[in-house]
Amino acid sequence: AKQKSRGSISIFAPEMDQQIRDRRVLHQDLSMAIRNGELSLHYQPQAASGATIAASKVIGFEALARWMHPMRGFVSPGEFIPLAEESGLIVEMGVWILREACREAASWPVPMQIAVNLSPAQFMHGDVVSLVHSILLETGLAPDRLELEITEGVLIEDFDRGLALLRRLKALGVRISMDDFGSGYSSLSYLQAFPFDKIKIDRAFVMNLGRNPQSAAIVRAVIDLGHGLEMSIVAEGVETQEQLSFLSDEGCDAVQGYFLGKPQPIGHYDALVGRSAAK
Ligand code: C2E
Ligand code: CA
Ligand code: CA
Ligand code: CA
Repeated sequence: AKQKSRGSISIFAPEMDQQIRDRRVLHQDLSMAIRNGELSLHYQPQAASGATIAASKVIGFEALARWMHPMRGFVSPGEFIPLAEESGLIVEMGVWILREACREAASWPVPMQIAVNLSPAQFMHGDVVSLVHSILLETGLAPDRLELEITEGVLIEDFDRGLALLRRLKALGVRISMDDFGSGYSSLSYLQAFPFDKIKIDRAFVMNLGRNPQSAAIVRAVIDLGHGLEMSIVAEGVETQEQLSFLSDEGCDAVQGYFLGKPQPIGHYDALVGRSAAK
């Protein structure tokens, strides 16, 4: 009975904003999405920076969640990840994502890196250390092939807990990247305090390279800063040859973006992961 009434919108006042109603229904659907096999992962290549695409060797992939809703079609992670966070569904969803990404990467003949996004709720409220540990054991993925991407916002909430968690994760042998660097309340003290292996420069700065000299100055400064702290630098959202040339000239370690490859089902990248035939 509970199931049946779930799809009903009669309890809402007619003046209720359509958006809120949509959200409510989407919410209910999301709880079924994992069970119904509607979630999947796309993979986007990350390459060591070279002057050209040909000179930029793919070293790994970022796993990006996709939800194919039966009625609405594709729902963007920008929309459903925040919903999943609010409802607590992110914990279950995060387990699925991490397991699926590790299982997939463990099956590749070429041992590429795999980067997985951890949402703030997943990081701060779930038992993320045991989760990562058990999934590594279960899938047999070597810990040094796994990279966890977290945003700086996560750490603002509770500095001490954040630091303790990062240290315990690193003790497992996985790497940690600071995602979307520069997009939030970036604080340089965070870079000093937290043991990141990598900084991902937010695509907003990369997008404006060539258009505005401030972005070039910031990107240059982040590369130097990161290197000074012995972190490696990845630029995201690389869409043009000009951006790639600039980043490669400036010594940015790695690049990711449509210019090198869009997020795609893994079958699209079979050759890169060492599988000859399509699955
Ligand atoms: P993000 O971690 O910053 O991921 C990069 C986003 O930029 C992806 O969007 C990707 O498709 C897009 N992108 C990559 N290259 C380019 C480019 O050259 N140009 C442009 N314009 N965009 C590019 P996507 O897949 O829609 O994901 C959006 C955000 O949703 C991600 O941002 C991440 O924060 C979150 N997300 C995605 N998958 C997961 C997941 O599995 N778990 C969690 N917790 N969050 C996820
Ligand atoms: Ca990311
Ligand atoms: Ca990012
Ligand atoms: Ca982003």
